[in-house]
Amino acid sequence: MGVDLGSTTAKAAVVDESGALVGSSVVQMGAVSREAVARAMDGALAAAGVSQADIRRTISTGYGRKLVPGTDRTFTEITCHARGAAALHPGVRLVIDIGGQDSKAIIVDDDGLVERFAMNDRCASGTGRFFDVLARALEVDVSAVGELALAGSETLEVSSMCATFAETEVISLLAQGRERADIAASVHKAVAARTLGLVAQVGKATPTVMTGGVAKNPAARLHVSRALGHPVEILDQPQIAGAYGAGLLARDDYAGGSGSPAPSDAATEEQVQVSLSAGTPHCQDCDGSPGHPHPGTGEPVPLELQRNIR
Ligand code: ADP
Repeated sequence: MGVDLGSTTAKAAVVDESGALVGSSVVQMGAVSREAVARAMDGALAAAGVSQADIRRTISTGYGRKLVPGTDRTFTEITCHARGAAALHPGVRLVIDIGGQDSKAIIVDDDGLVERFAMNDRCASGTGRFFDVLARALEVDVSAVGELALAGSETLEVSSMCATFAETEVISLLAQGRERADIAASVHKAVAARTLGLVAQVGKATPTVMTGGVAKNPAARLHVSRALGHPVEILDQPQIAGAYGAGLLARDDYAGGSGSPAPSDAATEEQVQVSLSAGTPHCQDCDGSPGHPHPGTGEPVPLELQRNIR
């Protein structure tokens, strides 16, 4: 089983011996919670029609991965999203994962192994949190904000790319009588420009997929695709890519006696820690300009570390 305990949702995926995804579950959380992860794990078991006793290995990933009960090993989301995305879309080269509080651009090889990555974990712009703030200001559910954006035109100037100030700006645009759909479209376009900045750190590559909850937003996919200048392939279940990848690593780990054990992702973990320790985010870090170099936005992985990622 693979478990992805993120900042807003708990995901679990059951994988069979052949590596096929046989059951999954996504549970929305108010905050990182053990109860939610237990429900996600139970949901995935029920969907797969198996019990906990049938599970041979559990690997967890995500922001709260250390809290997952019964975990045999943990891996970073970068390793797991790369592996899951490559299984969901064989041949993929660039994975853009946009979750609740961070975003990542990952270049993967044929086997779904990470070649290099960049991440933004310091600033809510370009993350699901930004769309959550937008949806709340526009009084629609986040699952509908993309459809609303598709009905608008992205002609408005959205100057603030800081989530804290964006809500105020959206409310101000509403007060000026601007159309909600146009505001939604313009914010999606601005967020896509941020995503392009992240991708620029690793280099564009095709095929490209998006993973994470934001990949379910059709306007986010469209605007990222326009910013990149090439299509973003659609995955059936983008939000469980990390849990599925963790499940595949658990399968490899179990098959270790006969096959190859799951590779360590210590080098990736080290890079993530470097990024996380870059300092506590605060608004003075950001002047709101689209080209602002955000603290904690991961630099491309140094070559000596890239070699260790496998
Ligand atoms: P995490 O792993 O950090 O919990 P997820 O990958 O689950 O994050 O993504 C959560 C984000 O995805 C939310 O902040 C929200 O903006 C977005 N999201 C979730 N469900 C949907 C949906 N149905 N349509 C559009 N966006 C969604």
